[in-house]
Amino acid sequence: MVGSLFGALADLVLPRTCAGCGVPAVMLCRACAGLLAVPRLAEPRRFPWGFPPTVAAGAYAGPVRPAILAFKERGRAELAVPLGAALALAVAVVVSAVPGPPRPVALVPVPSSRESLRVRGRDHVRELTARAVIELRPFGIPAAEARLLRRRGRVQDSAGLTAGQRRANLAGTFERSAAGSTVPAGALLVLVDDVVTSGATLTEAAAVLGADRAGEAAPVLAAVVAATPRAAPGHRCAGRPQAVRERSSRVPRSTVGSPEEGLASN
Ligand SMILES: [Zn+2]
Repeated sequence: MVGSLFGALADLVLPRTCAGCGVPAVMLCRACAGLLAVPRLAEPRRFPWGFPPTVAAGAYAGPVRPAILAFKERGRAELAVPLGAALALAVAVVVSAVPGPPRPVALVPVPSSRESLRVRGRDHVRELTARAVIELRPFGIPAAEARLLRRRGRVQDSAGLTAGQRRANLAGTFERSAAGSTVPAGALLVLVDDVVTSGATLTEAAAVLGADRAGEAAPVLAAVVAATPRAAPGHRCAGRPQAVRERSSRVPRSTVGSPEEGLASN
């Protein structure tokens, strides 16, 4: 108890290091934050049938991995600021690809398992979602959190499973949550998560969300902080739709080019 209190106090007063590369920095240094400002389409290696159109703010590789793990597993909750800004960028890009006038955006956090919530003592995806909402609104993207999904049943930890095993493990994982019924008419549904690897989780979640949206013109979309790179590091989606390029001007520049602004706001 005393030890943990001391640790918490030390965290408050001692200079911290970049969660990505370890250089002295408040949260993420400029170089590491820049790695999360290169949006690309997520392309799982074995593209699951029904995988939603998904944009990641960067590659889940290099310093991005320890940065996300520090936030997710090691209690560096302050990283919600730069990582939530990265998620906002991914959301802005994926919704900009939908033709037509801007629509309300409902961010649907992928629910963590009860076991994960118990171990971590917090819901890190909802923390990212809340931050992304804050980042998006000043840039004319009316986003709000919509907790439309919840977990059901028991799922074993997916660590160490193959992509096929993960799919089987996840079958029937999610169901619609009755609590989340306040989505504006015509809203774009954007699943949000920290990382996409095999794509199984987002595919399962999108199937549940899309089940009662047969009449909807726009598919369920997804946005993540980082995606496991499929090709060589640095590969970026070359063929972004025109709409993406046009509306990229609406993407929060503070999240793209000047990560320090996000840091300073803390
Ligand atoms: Zn760094």
